[in-house]
Amino acid sequence: MTGKIDLKNLTLPALEQFLQGQGKERFRALQVFKWIYQQDAGGFEEMTNISKALRTELAETAFISNLEPEAVEEGSDGTRKYLFNLGDGHAVESVLIPIEGRNTLCISSQVGCAMACEFCLTGTFKLTRNLTTAEIINQIMAVKRDIARNPPSLLVEQNEFDDADESDDGHPDSPAAIRNIVLMGMGEPLHNLDNVIPAIQIMIDGNGLQLSNRRVTVSTCGLVPEMARLGREIPNVNLAVSLNATTNELRDRIMPVNRSYPIESLLQACREFPLPGRRKVTFEYVMLGGVNDSLDDAKRLLRLISDIPNKVNLIPFNEHDGCGFKAPSQKAIDAFHKYLIDRHVTVITRDSRGGDISAACGQLKGKLEKK
Ligand code: SAH
Repeated sequence: MTGKIDLKNLTLPALEQFLQGQGKERFRALQVFKWIYQQDAGGFEEMTNISKALRTELAETAFISNLEPEAVEEGSDGTRKYLFNLGDGHAVESVLIPIEGRNTLCISSQVGCAMACEFCLTGTFKLTRNLTTAEIINQIMAVKRDIARNPPSLLVEQNEFDDADESDDGHPDSPAAIRNIVLMGMGEPLHNLDNVIPAIQIMIDGNGLQLSNRRVTVSTCGLVPEMARLGREIPNVNLAVSLNATTNELRDRIMPVNRSYPIESLLQACREFPLPGRRKVTFEYVMLGGVNDSLDDAKRLLRLISDIPNKVNLIPFNEHDGCGFKAPSQKAIDAFHKYLIDRHVTVITRDSRGGDISAACGQLKGKLEKK
């Protein structure tokens, strides 16, 4: 494939440019784009409204990549974990969280991660490489194909990524559709913006994957300059911030990124992020037993975020081998949750779903379990 361009790396405007550079009419790009994203075409020979000569010509300069899962595991709660072999010895995972008519897919943006958060399994593998735009998009397309063949039957009950009150038009999607995309899998999406931004543009393009921008959520550990760039280049996307600590002292320790961008600057970037209308920033808060799960933490958390339109996702720590942190007690979770609810914060405590297949937050490592 050397020298050929993977068309799945190109947004529609970039595809127009590419084809124009080859002396082709502009409308050809739209035709090809629709074949790729709406018909899931795997090759040019399928593009029957394009002349044979042009198809042959395209095949000489370009190709359409694809991913198929190497393994699919279904957890007892219906969560599905997909392992994608990237063909260069590396692999990433995606997780489908099925809910009736409102499926959410959690996708990866990097192989490994450079952010080195102390509690996160993915972070212990360091960064191997960025995913390409095509590899990000192909996770979604492969899962769509899988659930079209085999729609999820077991459904989880709650899905904090789906805002029934604001983005639900009352019509559930078909069981085989993906409604919400969250960039919360392996990697730090804002550390790979050059590929993540075009991927989101393809996701929300009305001629592309046709997702609503209000249903795409980018989660970050707090790369402040990149938050501003994301807001400039794709306003209206949902922002989730992994806060996880309420003092710089603790955050410096468990999330090294905080040494460059401390809590105050992170919160300022949240205030400046262009959120449309009544949308809120999601603050993720991994509860580490005995470390950040006290009522004092809850109080400080509330104080920190109270002047930002917010909702809070409490994520009880998912234990994994070789990590010294412990899950919080149910009592600590309940007390923390209640403290915030009583003060009118929108809080969802995330179930540690997919735990039995290591698909829960912070458990993705891009390898098959040795059975
Ligand atoms: N790098 C981005 C995207 C990953 S999202 C980010 O940090 O936001 C993954 C979420 O899972 C983050 O909120 C992270 O704090 C959380 N997480 C990581 N390891 C975890 C673990 N072992 N248990 C529970 N949550 C974890």
